[in-house]
Amino acid sequence: MGFFSIFNRLPGAWGTLALIVLSGMVEGFGLVLFVPLLELMTAGSAENLQWPFTIIIDAFEMVGLPVTLNFMLIAIAVLIVGSLGLGYAQRHLAFRAKHKLIRRIRQDIVDTLFHSTWSHFSRQSHGEVINQLIQECHQAGNASLCAVLCVASIIQVTIYLLFSSMLSWELMTITLLFTGFVVLAVRPLQRRARVLGEANTRANRDMGFFGVDFLRGAKLVKVTANEGRVLDRIAGHIRAVFHASFHAELNGIQIYFLVQALPVLLIAGIIAVAHGVLGMTSSLTLVFLLILARLAPRVAQFQQQYQGYIVTRPAMRVVDEAIAAGRANEEDLGGGKRLARLTVGIALENVSYHYADGEGTVLDDVSLTIGRNQMIAVVGSSGAGKSTLIDLITGLRLPDSGRITVDGVDLRQMDLRSWRRQIGYVTQDVIVFNDTMRNNLVFTHRDSTEEHIGRVVDIAHLRDVVDGLPQGLDTVLGEGGVRLSGGQKQRLALARALMGDPQLLLLDEATSALDTESERKIQEAIESIAHKFTIVIVAHRLSTVRKADRICVMERGRIVERGSYDELLARNGRFAELHEHQFA
Ligand code: ADP
Repeated sequence: MGFFSIFNRLPGAWGTLALIVLSGMVEGFGLVLFVPLLELMTAGSAENLQWPFTIIIDAFEMVGLPVTLNFMLIAIAVLIVGSLGLGYAQRHLAFRAKHKLIRRIRQDIVDTLFHSTWSHFSRQSHGEVINQLIQECHQAGNASLCAVLCVASIIQVTIYLLFSSMLSWELMTITLLFTGFVVLAVRPLQRRARVLGEANTRANRDMGFFGVDFLRGAKLVKVTANEGRVLDRIAGHIRAVFHASFHAELNGIQIYFLVQALPVLLIAGIIAVAHGVLGMTSSLTLVFLLILARLAPRVAQFQQQYQGYIVTRPAMRVVDEAIAAGRANEEDLGGGKRLARLTVGIALENVSYHYADGEGTVLDDVSLTIGRNQMIAVVGSSGAGKSTLIDLITGLRLPDSGRITVDGVDLRQMDLRSWRRQIGYVTQDVIVFNDTMRNNLVFTHRDSTEEHIGRVVDIAHLRDVVDGLPQGLDTVLGEGGVRLSGGQKQRLALARALMGDPQLLLLDEATSALDTESERKIQEAIESIAHKFTIVIVAHRLSTVRKADRICVMERGRIVERGSYDELLARNGRFAELHEHQFA
């Protein structure tokens, strides 16, 4: 990505530059006025001054301004303070623009991610996304600001050079040659800055990935007493970040030192040439040096900003790629027929599916009808394709061939959002937010009435849990729902799913991780809603599917058996085998 495209990303970049030009001109003019001021102070009049100062004096006299010492002092103070004010306004604009840009990039990352297909979304690493949101966005904003400030510094330096050439073009030429020398001297360090910048971004990203994985697996690590091994790996990442960020900053300090120290030689040289060769007056020499004293920090600033730009530039590519990938995978929500209620049912007709990055067909010619208010169970060994089947029913994934219809309408022709709003979904891995029980329950249906919440709490057999909490529904459940047991969390998830009176309730492995007592409670809850809702339940525990109207047994992407619990047992096939395995 080129310098100017990063520069252009900052909102109002050109306005910022216009302010810089204005501020530089005002300050430069103020500095030049020091020459007549010093003449007035030393010689008592400005009459001995030559071009271009004669023009300034004439201009002053023409508009009736007095060329006196006091007036010059006031004019200089006003001009310099004015230029500082303009500089302040420019920085204000530039920094605000940077934060606006960061906000926009952050928003774009989350927007494109949440509007992307599930295939894309589910492939994203959580660590990577968090890193993009926190670190890379910030860096990308800084890259853009640094690009603008670099151009601003160049403009300021050019303005100072123009004003100093008014005083002596010979000294200005020396200054230019010297600046060229400084630029060449720091070039190798700048090249190093690029490499270090990329290493820094990489090290931070790796630490983010590992950190998220480690936090997710913290319990496993502690229970198996593997802290040492994990901490060694974390220490490795922390060390890598230390080295990368320290060396990146050290490189910056080295550049800064060179840029600060080398101009001292220039000042000594200028005084020698001005005095010994050019025979310049001390007031001219002094003001030239005054302008140089203002110019040197700008050159140093330019170096720092360019260095900052190089270090942060890779982040812009990272966030742009993330946003572009999200856009390229934008989910087509259909926008077709909207679904208000399920009246007939759902049908899968010869559905096949394979994962783009997976091996082979995961669902192979699956046909299945789910009538309204029926309870259909899907069982089978792990990897048989049960969760994929659920993803297809929700429209999160679309079949490679065959079709899925809801009340006879193909999901491809349906407004998918209206369909998904009718779905209640319970997963094995229940998400409990660090919020009150009430807010956890109404997460997807904020407008639920108190009465409705109470009814759902009863249906989901959650009443004893709510009554046992110190502030009832208003009790904060703590990070990850630490106040609740696994079974209680499952019933909370069931209640949450029921809150919107779903037309389809999907229970994906809802009971597989529970003890017998918890399983019994959720089983009772499920049985009490059977035939009141349309339910598809994916289960490992066969006891939970006893009441199902139909059980489909899946093996390697195909439905190999289907029937009621008793029919399947009597058939003595795969289901009976699974059953024997579980209850033996
Ligand atoms: P089940 O729910 O019956 O355990 P899944 O539907 O999760 O089975 O998986 C079926 C097959 O698809 C498995 O072989 C699994 O490895 C593969 N699979 C699941 N998810 C993905 C994915 N996101 N990318 C590639 N392959 C996948």
